Amino acid sequence: ASTAQLQELDASKLTVTKTTTPRELVPPSELVFGRTFTDHMLSIEWTASEGWHAPRITPYQNLSLDPASCVFHYAFECFEGMKAYKDSKGQVRLFRPDKNMERMNKSTSRIALPTFDRASMIDLLSKFAALEERFIPSAKGYSLYLRPTMIGTQRTLGVGPPGSALLYVIASPVGPYYPTGFKAVSLEATDYAVRAWPGGVGDKKLGANYAPCIVPQMEAAKRGFHQNLWLFGEEEYVTEVGTMNMFVALKNKETGQKELVTAPLDGTILEGVTRDSVLSLAREKLIPQGWKISERKYTMPELAEAASEGRLLEAFGSGTAAVVSPVRNISYKGQLVECGLKPGEEAGEIATSMLRWIESRQYGDEEHDWSYVV
Ligand code: PMP
Repeated sequence: ASTAQLQELDASKLTVTKTTTPRELVPPSELVFGRTFTDHMLSIEWTASEGWHAPRITPYQNLSLDPASCVFHYAFECFEGMKAYKDSKGQVRLFRPDKNMERMNKSTSRIALPTFDRASMIDLLSKFAALEERFIPSAKGYSLYLRPTMIGTQRTLGVGPPGSALLYVIASPVGPYYPTGFKAVSLEATDYAVRAWPGGVGDKKLGANYAPCIVPQMEAAKRGFHQNLWLFGEEEYVTEVGTMNMFVALKNKETGQKELVTAPLDGTILEGVTRDSVLSLAREKLIPQGWKISERKYTMPELAEAASEGRLLEAFGSGTAAVVSPVRNISYKGQLVECGLKPGEEAGEIATSMLRWIESRQYGDEEHDWSYVV
């Protein structure tokens, strides 16, 4: 079939089959991330001969796949992580869904899976989130985590582009990441395992990027650290932390100017939606206060030196799950690099402000075009 005959993703063809056995809601205080799911799922099949089939919302159910399906053998899988929030008026809002759908299309196309029309997919996500509205607690900090996933489903052991695929979305209600306030984490600077490299796929959200990070994570945990700080190369460039982007606030050695730094999007860094939001807010609110905002390479020796001279003001991770996650210290070459927190302090000024600024847009307290009312 020529591409002209392939069907585009068409949200207006959605059919909805509601569950006849609605689940009991888990009390909000007992929610565990990714443990419980809503009543329904959204599924859209794709074939190379026809393109996108009609989207379906059905009761949440097992998939039935041939054991030869290419997803199981060659890791044709990518995913997204995003959230729906309930505002003070009870309206459901997605946060920057265009960013997640843009990133998902970059991931799918890198592994020969099909792309889709972003606006149609946002429309479908909205309908799905609206249908599952009862699962989103209204209290601040609660949300519905959405997990769009695409897999190659072709039944073949031949290594080649999948002739069929499934795009599906499941949803899990989640509570606040810090129910009792920030808890700063300790990191282990990791150089013996490398998460991503130039020309690799670390900037795509492929499932295959995540499984290899678990053993280093277990190793770090064994030594008492919460997360890996992924370094790259002989220079020991700081890249990301666990599954978050990394930010540091430094004071310039000569001028004393404050600088908020994160690694540049050079292909080894996931293009975090929260990273982008932090950078935008920093440019908006911190530049007027004299800050410099930098997307540039920085190294572990640079951080160690700044810390020893009292110029490492603050460090935090950024991601959809926690929004920001303050860092207390980093284990590096047998020493602990302290990241600016005073004893007993759990978060610095920037991390604290960022959480407030971002949440206010997520929950619609501040009207902003980042927030998409479904
Ligand atoms: N880096 C990695 C490796 C991640 O898995 C994530 C989570 N998606 C992030 C960064 C943060 O991205 P986001 O802000 O879009 O959640």
